[in-house]
Amino acid sequence: MSIDRFELVRASFGKKAQAVGAPSQKSSEYFGACVFDRAKMRKYLDPETLEALLECIDKGHPLDRATADGVASGMKLWALENHVTHITHWFQPLTEGTAEKHDSLIDLDGKGGVIETFDGSSLVQQEPDASSFPNGGIRATFEARGYTAWDPTSPVFIQEDTLCIPTVFIAYTGEALDYKTPLKRSINAVSEAAAEICRLFDPRVNKVRCYLGWEQEYFLVDEDLYAARPDLMITGRTLMGHMSSKNQQLGDHYFGAIPGRVAAFMRELEVEALRLGIPLKTRHNEVAPNQFEMAPIYGDANLSNDQNQLVMNLMNNLARKHGFVVLLHEKPFAGINGSGKHCNWSLGTDTGRPLMAPGRDATENLQFLTFFVNVLMAVQRHNGVLKASIASATNAHRLGGHEAPPAIISAFLGRTMSAVLRKILEVPSDTPIQIAGKKERSVGLIEIPEIFVDNTDRNRTSPFAFTGNRFEFRAVGSSANCAGALTTLNAAVAEQLLDFKKALDVELEKGKTLQVAVMDTLKPIIAQIIDTICFDGNGYSEEWQQEARRRGLDTETCVPEMFKAFTTPESVAMFTRTGVYTEKELAARNEVKWDIYTKKVQIESRVMVRMAINHIIPAALEYKTRLLKEVSLHQQVMGGFDGCQTEVELIRRIGGLIEEVSDRAESMRLARKRANTLEGEYERAMAYHAIAAQIEELRRPIDKLEEFVDNQLWPLPKYRELLFIS
Ligand code: ADP
Ligand code: MG
Repeated sequence: MSIDRFELVRASFGKKAQAVGAPSQKSSEYFGACVFDRAKMRKYLDPETLEALLECIDKGHPLDRATADGVASGMKLWALENHVTHITHWFQPLTEGTAEKHDSLIDLDGKGGVIETFDGSSLVQQEPDASSFPNGGIRATFEARGYTAWDPTSPVFIQEDTLCIPTVFIAYTGEALDYKTPLKRSINAVSEAAAEICRLFDPRVNKVRCYLGWEQEYFLVDEDLYAARPDLMITGRTLMGHMSSKNQQLGDHYFGAIPGRVAAFMRELEVEALRLGIPLKTRHNEVAPNQFEMAPIYGDANLSNDQNQLVMNLMNNLARKHGFVVLLHEKPFAGINGSGKHCNWSLGTDTGRPLMAPGRDATENLQFLTFFVNVLMAVQRHNGVLKASIASATNAHRLGGHEAPPAIISAFLGRTMSAVLRKILEVPSDTPIQIAGKKERSVGLIEIPEIFVDNTDRNRTSPFAFTGNRFEFRAVGSSANCAGALTTLNAAVAEQLLDFKKALDVELEKGKTLQVAVMDTLKPIIAQIIDTICFDGNGYSEEWQQEARRRGLDTETCVPEMFKAFTTPESVAMFTRTGVYTEKELAARNEVKWDIYTKKVQIESRVMVRMAINHIIPAALEYKTRLLKEVSLHQQVMGGFDGCQTEVELIRRIGGLIEEVSDRAESMRLARKRANTLEGEYERAMAYHAIAAQIEELRRPIDKLEEFVDNQLWPLPKYRELLFIS
C-alpha cells in the first residue's frame, strides 16, 4: 500500500483547531494544584513532620525514617483525594528524557480484599531493575543494582493517576547514574564557594542560590504527515528533503500571529503546566516556519530543570491530542533554523541580592563585578569542557550552522560592561564603582548605566552572553537535559571562586580594605580575559574562527573528540575538587556519550539507506521507466529523437542520480560494517563521525531527485507540506 501524499496534505490542511475550554478559574487558583507544595505540606503534615521536612529541604539535612513515614502518610491522604492509584519514582537517566516505573498502591489486606498502602520506605527509596540504562560500565550487569532516592528539594507531583516522586538515580557503589545527582552536587559547590565570598560583603548571607530560566524551542508537524516520514519518526529529523521555495526568508513567521491549531495546543499546555506548578510566562512563534518557543519564570536550577523535563514530556502527550507531533530535535529540517534551549543562569543570595546584576551602591557593584569577572574567567579556563557539555550527535547539526552559536565558546559582554572592565584596569583600586541613575545622575568614575539591560546582546551570535542580570548559555540543544551544561558551568564557576577567594585572602592579609583587595585581585583576571574569552563581534564570521584559534580557545568541531575535554587533567581537577564528579564517573560518562553518539548516527545511517533503497530509488525508477517508454514511443512514431530532448536529458540525469544514490548507500553500508568491528567506544564514535558526513553526501543526490521526479510519484511529504500549518 503506497501513501497518498495528496490525501494526507489535504486532510492536514483541513483540520480545525480543537476547542480548549478556558479554565473557569484564574491561573493563580489552579497554579500548583497537582504539586505537593508547601501549602499542601502545611495542610497534610503534622507540625513535627512538617518542621523536620522543611529542615531537609532548606538546610539539606538527611531525611530520617520517622519523618519519611510521616510525610508519606500525609502525601497518601492528598494522593487518594486526587484519585491516585499508582506511585512512581521519576528520574533522569543518561538517556534522553525521564524514566518511571509505576507501582500500584494496593496491597492485600489478608481478608480477601485490598487496601492502599504507601509508607516512608517506598517514598524514599526504590530499586528499579535498571540494568539496561546507560552507565558506562559502572555497574557490571551481574550486580545491576542501582537505586533511586527521593530528592526532597523537588516537590512530588501528580500526573493522571500517578504520584510522581522526583529522585536521584545512583549505583549501589555510590556513583551517579543520572543528570540530577551531579547537578545537585554542582549547585552545592557553587553555592558554598559563592557564599564564602558574599559573606565578606554581607555577613548575613547564609546561602547562595543558583537559578535557571530555560527557553524551549520546538517544531510542530502534523501527525499524519509525520507518520509518512520514517526518518522523522525514527530519528526525529528529516534526513532528506529539498528546500521549500519559501522558508523563513521573509521573516514572516517570527513573532507572527500564532496559528489557531497551535494556539489551542499552547493553551492546553499552559494550563497543564501551571497545574504542575510550572510558571510558563512567554510563548511565541520562532524564526523558522512551524517553530515555536516558550519560557517560564526562572527558578531554583534543580527544580526548574525538573520542570523543563516535565514540560518536554507534557508537550509530546498534549500535541497528539491536537493532531501534532512535537519535534525537539536540534535540526529537524535542513536549510532553516534549528532549535536550541537557552539556559539563563544566575546566582543570588538568600538575602535577596542578585549576584549577576549591578547593585544600588558601590559595594553591591563591587560584589557584582567580583562574580561577573569570575564567571568569565571560569568560562575561559574551561571553555573546552563547557562546549563538550552541550555537544551531542543532534546538536552538532545546529552549532556553527549560521543560525546558532559556533562551535567555539566565547562570552558577550555588551559595550557597557566591556568598557567598565577596561576602565577598571586604568583606575586606582580604591575608586568606588557607582551606578549612573536613570537620568544620567552620574557619580564616581566607573558608571554602569541602568539602561544597560537594553544594551545587551541582540545579535544572538554569542554562545554565552551577559544579558543584564544573568548569563545566557545559548549553545544548549533543544532536546538536551539542561543539567549537562549547568553542572559543568557550576563546577567551573565554583572552582574559580575558590581560587579567587584564596587570592583575595592573601590581599586582605596585607591589611588592604575589602574594596582595594577585591580590585587588586580582579585586575589581573580582567587583564587575562578581556581579549581572550570576551568577544562582542560576529560569532558567525569566518574571521572569528581564525581569531579564536589565535586566542587559544577550543575550536574542535568533531563531537566525539570534544568529549575528551571531560577527562583532561584540568577538567578532572575541577570536577573532583568541587565534588561534582569522580574520575570514575567522568570516564564512565564519556563511554556513555560516545556510545550514544555512535548509536544515533548508526540509526540515521540505517534509516537513510533503507529509505534510499525502498522509497527513493523505486520512485525515481518508475519515473525513468515512464520517460523511457515515452521516448521509445516517440521514436517509433516520429522516427527519431527530435522533439524529445527534454525527456532524454531527464532520463540521463535521473539515471545518473540513481546510480549515485545506490553507490553511496552501498559504501555507507560497508563503512558501517567496518565501524561495528572496532573495539572501544571512542574509536567507534570516531568512525561514525565519518559516517555522519556520508549521510549528508547521500542526501544530496536524493534531494536533487526530488527536484526532477514527477511530483505525483514522490513517496514522502515534502518540506513545503511539512512546514506550513494551516
Ligand atoms: P529573551 O528571548 O529575551 O532571552 P525570554 O523572556 O524569552 O527572553 O526568556 C528569558 C528567560 O530568562 C526567562 O526564562 C526568564 O525567567 C529568565 N531569566 C530572567 N532573569 C533571570 C535571572 N536573573 N536568572 C535566571 N534566569 C532569568
Ligand atoms: Mg533568551
